Amino acid sequence: MSEHANLLRRHKAVMPSWLALNYEDPIEIVGGKGNRVTDAEGRGYLDFFTGILTNMIGYDVPEVRDAVERQIATGVVHTSTAYLLRGQVELAEKIARLSGIPDAKVFFTNSGTEANETALLLAAYARRSDQVLAMRQSYHGRSFGAIGVTGNRAWTNIPYSPLNAHFLHGADRHLPQFAGMSDETYIDVCVQDLRHVLATATGGDVAALIAEPMQGVGGFTMAPDGLFAAYKEVLDEFGALFISDEVQTGWGRTGQGFWGIQNHGVTPDMMTFAKGLGNGFAVGGVVARGELMDALHAVGLSTFGGNPISMAAANATLDYVLDHDLQANAARQGATIIGGLERAAAGLPVVRQVRGKGLMFAIEMADPATGEPAPPLAAALMEAARERGLLVGKGGLYGNVVRMAPPLTLTDAEAAEGLGILTASLEAVNEAATS
Ligand code: PMP
Repeated sequence: MSEHANLLRRHKAVMPSWLALNYEDPIEIVGGKGNRVTDAEGRGYLDFFTGILTNMIGYDVPEVRDAVERQIATGVVHTSTAYLLRGQVELAEKIARLSGIPDAKVFFTNSGTEANETALLLAAYARRSDQVLAMRQSYHGRSFGAIGVTGNRAWTNIPYSPLNAHFLHGADRHLPQFAGMSDETYIDVCVQDLRHVLATATGGDVAALIAEPMQGVGGFTMAPDGLFAAYKEVLDEFGALFISDEVQTGWGRTGQGFWGIQNHGVTPDMMTFAKGLGNGFAVGGVVARGELMDALHAVGLSTFGGNPISMAAANATLDYVLDHDLQANAARQGATIIGGLERAAAGLPVVRQVRGKGLMFAIEMADPATGEPAPPLAAALMEAARERGLLVGKGGLYGNVVRMAPPLTLTDAEAAEGLGILTASLEAVNEAATS
């Protein structure tokens, strides 16, 4: 048995069956440099998924490595977040300033899930209510609270949660009942539904709406322009808070705004973030209006949230993003790739839609005979891209969407290379499915 096959056997023996691995022959990544990784068998890949959006500025970035090594050299990998930590204060100042939220304060966690738990805790306590609103097809994590606001059952582990959640329309324009509607009418229908939920199911006593500006796991679907602004107006009437989950959309990834919610012209009460901020080091957090943050009576929420190593990595990563104006790069490279994919997909019956914004784009696959969602074709596209040296991700309500979020440091040459591989892979999958 090869070393690789043996590792896979050992993985299956000691790790839970639900820890799913991508690809028929799963990959062990052992090296990374720039926007590329290498597997244990020596094959190189251009990385269009970066973990799951974790390595926001690529691999082995000298600025991040140096910052972390400098912190390690002090001898303090971690002590306690009950002491003053310079890195936390500096990072919080930057995020508060960038957030656009008035009087913002920041709390750090280890992950996006914990960030959402914290935001929901803050909202529930501030409003003295366990009733929350969330979007259909959403994903916010798999902890007990986060499950409750995740509207995509296929991506949750158990169907129970301590929260009392109601799910809103907004990312489901594709449903037959909305066919042929203008965005304006759709938004009207959605707002009427929200008002109905507030008046009937909840009695108006709602803590918050939590929403992703572009749904990540849901397959990079986006509510039409104006919907979140219309929701916010109604929520304001009831005093309910708006939480934007920026775990995937933050840090300029969508090109248009530094935060995904800026695409919708809304200033939220709170934002949660994680993933790319530490460029691979575990960090997440919440930025919220100071009065909401200060209302909680606690002495912290976790031992390692905001630890010095993650703070060093996050400060260096965020500085890099800002110094190199990677938001502008995301807008430019994203426009090239999305435009190229649209041209490549035109006339291919296996593609239902190419969509996205900035460096967050997806290809939705359909059965060429029936037009129905086709998870096997998404899997085939992933395998075809891998064979050609490109890593991509999967998502969507039915697992029929190939989603991509390359590092924000993507170069012109890498964008062209990735687009070339995707075009060839799409043609190969189309050929196999239609011949
Ligand atoms: N929110 C969103 C929008 C996410 O995509 C994810 C992770 N896929 C999470 C929250 C949870 O973050 P984490 O995995 O860091 O706990």
